[in-house]
Amino acid sequence: MTERTAPETTTAPASTAPATPAAELRVAVLGARGRMGSEAAQAVRRAEGLQLVAELDHEDSLEALVPAGAQVVVDFTVPSVTEHNVRFAVEHGIHAVVGTTGWDEEGLDRTRALLAQHPDVGVLIAPNFSIGAVLAMRFSAQAARFFESVEIVELHHPEKVDAPSGTAARTAALVGEARRAAGMGPSPDATKQDPDGARGAVVDDVHVHSVRLRGLVAHQETLLGGTGEQLTIRHDSFDRISFMSGVVLGVREVVSHPGLTHGLEDYLQLGL
Ligand code: NAP
Repeated sequence: MTERTAPETTTAPASTAPATPAAELRVAVLGARGRMGSEAAQAVRRAEGLQLVAELDHEDSLEALVPAGAQVVVDFTVPSVTEHNVRFAVEHGIHAVVGTTGWDEEGLDRTRALLAQHPDVGVLIAPNFSIGAVLAMRFSAQAARFFESVEIVELHHPEKVDAPSGTAARTAALVGEARRAAGMGPSPDATKQDPDGARGAVVDDVHVHSVRLRGLVAHQETLLGGTGEQLTIRHDSFDRISFMSGVVLGVREVVSHPGLTHGLEDYLQLGL
């Protein structure tokens, strides 16, 4: 991040800010001018018990989080900076709720190691904050061992910069894990030639196909095929507001879940 001048905050620095009731959780949003960040800022503003104390974007310094007294940051930025943002938050004792996708195992491991040095801090990295999408992921994993074939199709708006989506990659990982646990190999596939990649990406032995289409928001299908039957588990987010109840839940829960939590499902007590 570049060093900048006056940071944009919604309140004055802590020394001049009006007294806040102890129960209110002080929340900052990173990427606040983006599509998701602006929705998240609004959701925090509206949520009972939460106070929005800073909205930072590309031009702003993370240092502004400290005088703003942020206790939790919500990160909806870009894959290239999200880990740096989380590191800054953790090193300053600030919990983080991360929606930015593109995290790999190495990044997650580095964050776990960092959190081991800051045992009171919690970080939630959620590839998808929509409760419906989280359930679709879980149901896909539950169904995986009952069908010989499984493939995933994810469909998003054309401004999305990463593929496959974090949700599709996570679904594939959960499905792959469930199939391996049941002693199953990859889905049958006689393809010998695919010079143009028509069979899609392969994540954890599961083929994942990414569609980018004007008019879409975020959609996913898990296709499960057995002899003579097919089960389709489909989820559609028609509006970014669908992610916000999960974001607010994440903000409320992260303060009492130290360490790294990967996936909102761990906060939902699904018992699956
Ligand atoms: P977006 O509209 O492009 O917003 C990203 C924002 O981050 C932009 O305002 C961008 O500013 C800003 N930014 C870039 N670098 C920054 C930095 N160093 N510090 C602070 N802000 C910075 O993208 P979006 O659609 O909101 O998506 C954001 C992320 O959330 C993506 O990774 C997306 O895949 C993910 N996402 C997650 C979920 C979920 O449920 N977990 C749902 C939807 C999307 P500039 O435009 O000036 O660069």
